[in-house]
Amino acid sequence: MARYVGPSCRFCRREGEKLFLKGTRCFSDKCAFERRGYSPGEHGASRSGRRKGSEYGLQLREKQKVRRLYGLLETQFHNLFQRADGMAGITGENLLMLLECRLDNVVYRLGFAPSRKSARQLVRHRHFTVGGRVVDIPSYPVAPREVIRVREQSRNLDIIHQALKEQGRELALPYLRLDKARLEGELLEAPKRSDIPTLCSEQMIVELYSK
Ligand code: SF4
Repeated sequence: MARYVGPSCRFCRREGEKLFLKGTRCFSDKCAFERRGYSPGEHGASRSGRRKGSEYGLQLREKQKVRRLYGLLETQFHNLFQRADGMAGITGENLLMLLECRLDNVVYRLGFAPSRKSARQLVRHRHFTVGGRVVDIPSYPVAPREVIRVREQSRNLDIIHQALKEQGRELALPYLRLDKARLEGELLEAPKRSDIPTLCSEQMIVELYSK
């Protein structure tokens, strides 16, 4: 599966806001956005703040922001959008719900990993079971009532315990249940838009793809 392996911080600088893609580093003075909060590239500093942006440009930036936040490549994101579009209900809300239910995102939201990128790697390295069987596909769509558990042989991994310790910073999400002692969590129900803490305008993404 293809994936982006370049620097993450340039995404925050490009989108003009912190996307918190690197775990604890994002809360330290090493954050690249705090130090250089302008667009990346040779003319980034002089360009920043001068562009107003067309309607299309704003929609495109919103889509890029959400895509980068959840760590998807363009084709994966577009495929997910088409799935959301084919479902009953509001397309934008369906899209966010599908993104939230990806296994790598659920692992991150439960606090087993400091970032979605780490969560994806932990999943790929077969550290989790879903419903009792090992799943190593980050995009696996977790269904309501499915239990995600750290595998027996992975229970001593520092990265997981460290992430859980720092989890106090995370929001308590009503659609997730976490049992820290058992190192397991559960998706209780399909997330509702009002419960998803992602700050974005999903309607702009729908409008962009509808052109
Ligand atoms: Fe973004 Fe985190 Fe990098 Fe700061 S440290 S620029 S918030 S990814």
